[in-house]
Amino acid sequence: MSDTIITKPTLVVNCGSSSIKYALISEDNQHRITGLAENLGLDDAHIVHKSLDGTKTDVHIPGANHKAALVKIMELLGDQSPIAVGHRVVHGGREFSTAEKVTPHVIEEVKRLKALAPLHNPANATGIEAVQAIHPDLPQVVVFDTAFHQTMPPKAFRYAIPKEMYETDFIRRYGFHGTSHAYLSERASKLTKAEGPHGWLVAHLGNGSSATAVYNGESLDTSMGLTPLEGLMMGTRCGDVDPSLHIHLKRTLGLNLEEIDTILNKESGLLGVSGVSNDMRTVEAIANNDSHPHQKDAQLAVEMFCYRAGKYLASLSCALPDLTGIVFSGGIGENSATIRTRILDVMRHFDVEIDSSKNDALFGGGEGSFHTENSRYELWVIPTDEEFQIAQETRKVLGL
Ligand code: ADP
Repeated sequence: MSDTIITKPTLVVNCGSSSIKYALISEDNQHRITGLAENLGLDDAHIVHKSLDGTKTDVHIPGANHKAALVKIMELLGDQSPIAVGHRVVHGGREFSTAEKVTPHVIEEVKRLKALAPLHNPANATGIEAVQAIHPDLPQVVVFDTAFHQTMPPKAFRYAIPKEMYETDFIRRYGFHGTSHAYLSERASKLTKAEGPHGWLVAHLGNGSSATAVYNGESLDTSMGLTPLEGLMMGTRCGDVDPSLHIHLKRTLGLNLEEIDTILNKESGLLGVSGVSNDMRTVEAIANNDSHPHQKDAQLAVEMFCYRAGKYLASLSCALPDLTGIVFSGGIGENSATIRTRILDVMRHFDVEIDSSKNDALFGGGEGSFHTENSRYELWVIPTDEEFQIAQETRKVLGL
């Protein structure tokens, strides 16, 4: 155990249906204890806990549910007990445009929004209630993935469908990855020397990918919609398709809606087009391997990923009164100089000039710009830090 005591430690919790990702973060973001509880409810449930000095411990908790796992996590944190807990919650619907202190009403709403995020919101609510049961006096905050996008104007968030469907059934575009886009645009505005207000095109490119137009700290449009399926091509998600695809697949192939949903969410994207993998590193390696039977498919998958990302970023620029620059993040955006270059090649009518040596040097957690002095727009790689953003918003809501 390390002697360092974390200042104002905030515990950030991200509950999935059978997992809990957590991080205890110091106020200055200099110290962090992290961990992942997996396979909850099963015999092989366990926690991989990484202490302050980086030592990893694997703790087996057979059959443990979320509550039992959180009890163990608190135990593993030892002396470093949190002053507050911030929960990542996927859907905040129309009601939540900022982070909120947990109250019985907030918990009810998180549960009620299950219709919009069936896999995530129930698990998020379970985590909140479990912490409440273990430490009733510990203040808790929910930070919604959708909240940052609540500044989008109606022309960006409405679908061109009958207005009753919006008014009565809340069918609209919500956007996701909000915590990441908030962090990245705020960070870019700190790093740039350009005078404000700033307009950023933010590309969060990971297994899930989205792009957002942020002006003066506000999201004005984003690529994901009612669900995280809309927009860019992703690891296993198709992104934009013709909305009539569902009915077409039902009529021609006899598939039911569940089967179609699974195909578009889990079997499409890089995986679907390459036929081999959802992982960009693997797909890129196969694309470069002359003797691989899927080489051409992998090449097309990479080409489509870049074309669609570039096309989306270019179209999102229409939302911005002014453009300062483009920010790349997420596993792909942070690590692949080739993909960044190819996306910017697609946006060839934008007056940007890449400094190749700077671009090549940005990977593995590096942060910096990679435009030349002549470039009209700035180009940045910023590693995203959703956990820090959640910790920061949690303290802000609680006035800590
Ligand atoms: P998630 O959305 O699950 O958080 P990440 O942001 O971790 O995903 O991104 C995962 C993606 O990043 C994978 O497709 C992975 O192949 C890709 N990636 C990581 N490192 C590289 C790299 N050096 N070059 C290309 N892609 C990379």
